Amino acid sequence: MKRVLTGDRPTGNLHIGHYFGSLKKRVEIQNSGEYEQYILIADVQALTDNFNHPEKVRKNVREVAIDYLSVGIDPKKTTIYIQSMIPEVAELTVFYSNLVTIARLERNPTVKTEILQKKDIFGESVTYGFLGYPVSQAADITAFEGEIIPVGEDQLPLIEQCREIVRKFNSIYGNVLTEPKALLSEKKRIKGLDGNDKMGKSLGNAIYLRDSEEAILKKVMSAVTDPNRIRKDDLGNPDVCMVYYYHQLFDTREEYQNVCSECRLGKRGCVACKKELAQHINRELAPIRERRKYYEEHPEEVDKILIEGTSRAREVARETMVKVKKAMQLDYFGKE
Ligand code: ATP
Ligand code: MG
Repeated sequence: MKRVLTGDRPTGNLHIGHYFGSLKKRVEIQNSGEYEQYILIADVQALTDNFNHPEKVRKNVREVAIDYLSVGIDPKKTTIYIQSMIPEVAELTVFYSNLVTIARLERNPTVKTEILQKKDIFGESVTYGFLGYPVSQAADITAFEGEIIPVGEDQLPLIEQCREIVRKFNSIYGNVLTEPKALLSEKKRIKGLDGNDKMGKSLGNAIYLRDSEEAILKKVMSAVTDPNRIRKDDLGNPDVCMVYYYHQLFDTREEYQNVCSECRLGKRGCVACKKELAQHINRELAPIRERRKYYEEHPEEVDKILIEGTSRAREVARETMVKVKKAMQLDYFGKE
């Protein structure tokens, strides 16, 4: 079976953007029975720009694990593991760091954009660790012989970087590593209720999977609507309304058509429309919330899932490491 590798940095809870952008796809991949899926909680990578907030990373490892379980990631079918507990990945990172130049990393468009966004953390000079995180990501992928990597468009340069490292490694040391392929997610970036082009943790516009019904209603009530629509019976333009945009994500086709025609005809008030949207979001999140409640009440089960997943993942990484060391002539005494 082909291996699929995905993951997230544990720097906060997962939100609706992640849900439509990647989580739903992961559940689908898992339930197709066609792949062996590994999901990594990338705590080491999270530290590259949160090195001064270890408590934040620690807390969010469990939060993100619960987010996964609550959307329907089944630990019997998918392996969830903690990156820092796989030392082979750190070892591979060191080996791969010889196969990539500093100039190449500096040119990586994803890293370039992120460095600009993180000026408050790095100032004018970025750390070695952050600049090199694509190398550690290449180690994450190749340690598991990941063949398929589902990503958003913003992540493509990281996969390309990994492919380059793999080719370089194989050309020098022999054909050991598997070159991964990106599986581009068909869903576009989910916008924020505030009209921002992206919902994001650090943008303060996220609806989290763990938000309560009340919190969601409150967020939806503050959403940006058609600014030209002042009275309830003014004709609306749903194309400039974030409430409409979100209806599209959470409504049935019939509900959505109804919203659209009523708005255009001025037969639907924005307040009622927002309340209905909040109900639909809550309808979608209800089973997720229920599973979350279960795991929050059973933290020992979450720990067990993480311990078992990590131990399973480590076995795979160990096997890769044996091959890598042999290829690199680092197998001094036979079995390392
Ligand atoms: P931050 O604001 O701290 O960058 P974030 O909310 O953007 O956090 P990340 O952890 O950076 O979340 O997201 C990781 C990945 O999740 C992204 O590379 C992207 O593929 C996906 N993702 C994040 N936000 C969205 C979104 N609004 N729509 C679709 N996918 C998203
Ligand atoms: Mg981001």
